[in-house]
Amino acid sequence: MLAYTYVERGKFELLEKPKPVLKDARDAIVRVTLGSICTSDLHIKHGSVPRAVPGVTVGHEMVGVVEEVGAEVVSVKPGDRVTVNVETFCGECFFCRHGYVNNCTAPDGGWALGCRIDGGQAEYVRVPHADQGLTRIPYMVSDEQALFVGDVLATGFWAARISEIGEEDTVLIIGAGPTGICTLLCAMLKRPKCIIVCEKSYERCRFVREHYPQVLLTSPEECRDFVPAHSDHGGADVVLEVAGTEETFRLAWECARPNAVVTLVALYDSPQVLPLPDMYGKNLTFKTGGVDGCDCEEILHLIAEGKIDTTPLITHRFPLKDIAEAYRVFENREDGVFKVAIY
Ligand SMILES: [Zn+2]
Ligand SMILES: [Zn+2]
Repeated sequence: MLAYTYVERGKFELLEKPKPVLKDARDAIVRVTLGSICTSDLHIKHGSVPRAVPGVTVGHEMVGVVEEVGAEVVSVKPGDRVTVNVETFCGECFFCRHGYVNNCTAPDGGWALGCRIDGGQAEYVRVPHADQGLTRIPYMVSDEQALFVGDVLATGFWAARISEIGEEDTVLIIGAGPTGICTLLCAMLKRPKCIIVCEKSYERCRFVREHYPQVLLTSPEECRDFVPAHSDHGGADVVLEVAGTEETFRLAWECARPNAVVTLVALYDSPQVLPLPDMYGKNLTFKTGGVDGCDCEEILHLIAEGKIDTTPLITHRFPLKDIAEAYRVFENREDGVFKVAIY
């Protein structure tokens, strides 16, 4: 089968590999029907994910059809359409039992697919702990509607869930890339009084204006004045930082009102500074990044009910044989690309 492979730092290649086989009674083999490219894939390509193993098939955002299951798998059977979770988790350890599946202590727990073990930018993928890692897609939900459930949408859902958003709140979301938009969609489900999105890219602002006209837009330059002017208590009640730069990290806590929750969804390239003397008396609560992707069933229900729709994010589609071109367009942000679908 064809599998897009991390060959060495800076080099991915579409290689012919054997079809994966069951290795454990809890495994499933899934035929990938639709996949995507995530910014984390680019981090692997550029060598900034030390855990990534050369030779591994990349890709961790995908949906497919179950081909084969191990003897202990009970939640899915061959023929089921499924979303694949970015995280592998056992469901039994201390962290899994508390819903902190990102910190699963199983040897293959956490983000393994497309990083430490073969992922889904391929025709088939082996999914360990399939009872936890696969979720059946309701018949009325299409592959494109379900494509982001296991990764970026799970991240947005988790971020909104832990941020304690109330109906009287002004919520500031910094960054309107794919994860920022997913965070926005999930924050909207909490029905806060006001949502402000801070974004510098013209294309992304246009996307927000076109699809979510009820949302207020500001830029990093204006954010410090704009947010207090549109909040009841001198700053945002909740801030979700999804952009991941030094500037946006600073904006996040500066634009928060005293006693606000600041959720850091972003993955930073470098350490950030908490200037504690400047913050003293603000009594902020910071929540740090790392999705617990254990809400896929609930997310799929919300999609089926028409309450979440991420299909506008899919701006480009490519067959697997042209995946190198898909990477080129995605990486260079050509042609207004948000997300690509690989079929
Ligand atoms: Zn990802
Ligand atoms: Zn676990």
